[in-house]
Amino acid sequence: MKIKTWIDKNTCIGCGTCIAIAPEIYEFDSDGKAKAKVEIIEDPNLIQKARDAEVACPTRSVKVEEIKD
Ligand code: SF4
Repeated sequence: MKIKTWIDKNTCIGCGTCIAIAPEIYEFDSDGKAKAKVEIIEDPNLIQKARDAEVACPTRSVKVEEIKD
């Protein structure tokens, strides 16, 4: 199973929660909002972290989508 993850910059408020939960995946961009360093994830532990960040984001800006192949 693979996922794709990204940040909706229109709604991200730069709170840093996703970065605290999954620093392997998310980081601050130069605009102070979050961005995904990696977009396609296959490692199960990292997939779980992306999902945790998705749930924890106060503005639902962390997007996680399963990729079917
Ligand atoms: S948790 Fe949500 S609002 Fe906070 S920095 Fe990450 S994407 Fe932005």
